[in-house]
Amino acid sequence: MDAAKYIWMNGEFVNWDDAKVHVLSHTLHYGNGVIEGTKAYKTKKGYAIFRLNEHTARLKESAKMTLIDIPYSVEEMNQAQIDLIKKNEFTGDNVYLRPFAFLGYGVMGVYHKDAPVETVMSAWEWGAYLGEEGMQKGIKLKISSIARPSNTSNMGKAKATANYLNSQMAKYEAIDCGYDEALLLDDQGYVAEASGASFFMVKDGELITPPNDNSLVSITQKTVIEIAEFFDIKVVRKRISREDVYTADEAFLTGTAAEITPVRNIDARVIGCGNRGPITEKIQTMYFDIVFGRCETFEHYLTYID
Ligand code: PMP
Repeated sequence: MDAAKYIWMNGEFVNWDDAKVHVLSHTLHYGNGVIEGTKAYKTKKGYAIFRLNEHTARLKESAKMTLIDIPYSVEEMNQAQIDLIKKNEFTGDNVYLRPFAFLGYGVMGVYHKDAPVETVMSAWEWGAYLGEEGMQKGIKLKISSIARPSNTSNMGKAKATANYLNSQMAKYEAIDCGYDEALLLDDQGYVAEASGASFFMVKDGELITPPNDNSLVSITQKTVIEIAEFFDIKVVRKRISREDVYTADEAFLTGTAAEITPVRNIDARVIGCGNRGPITEKIQTMYFDIVFGRCETFEHYLTYID
């Protein structure tokens, strides 16, 4: 990864190399931590963070779900991220922000409420998550043998570090089998989401994405739905089966890091023309116009860094 200069830790900026924790930190052993993934883009008017408040609010809510008391308000953490972007003096087009909270050193045992809460805002320059080529030509998806855990057994709506063990195993399997990314079904066999992104498909001109019954409530997914409405493309939120996926006209993944990544192949079935489809391209182009500050209609989603 590309190191930056500073990391914000518990209210103070520390040098990147000094942002360290003890090996007996509670989260390292028992896995209770919460993360965000937010992005800042270099616009004509300087860096702008996309949908900052929603990301920070989701961090706070994830922490509430997992019983972590973050001692900072959403406003304080927003400000920390703005200051972080300024202080690091980035130069590239894409900056990824990783706000997180975890349980630090001092207590062992599964009961976590006595462990100290550490709050950190970090950022670094990071390009296309699924590769530049994938952004244009599309990626290959594998439906995972690993299901997304059912709603009765985990905190699926929290962006909790623990949830990424499942994602990691699914992603590994996909890569090991020669694919680029994993698509996880829920315990009923319907599409939940990818290992770190949401799923969309196009069929007969309609855009289809599953409800967030068993997936992260994604901010990019919401944005894409708004873009589709802007273009008068009908959006349907319904359960999607494996057969639906295989016979889609187009498919793509969305996420803060994945942005809008076309899908060209799923489990050896060629999707549509086997390339980025026309609706995917339209939405992808608009998404980049929005995040890079080239679209007035969606300008309110940008927090400019002065
Ligand atoms: N699902 C999972 C499991 C994710 O990790 C992400 C990335 N945060 C998403 C969906 C997409 O969420 P967002 O659009 O809010 O980044």
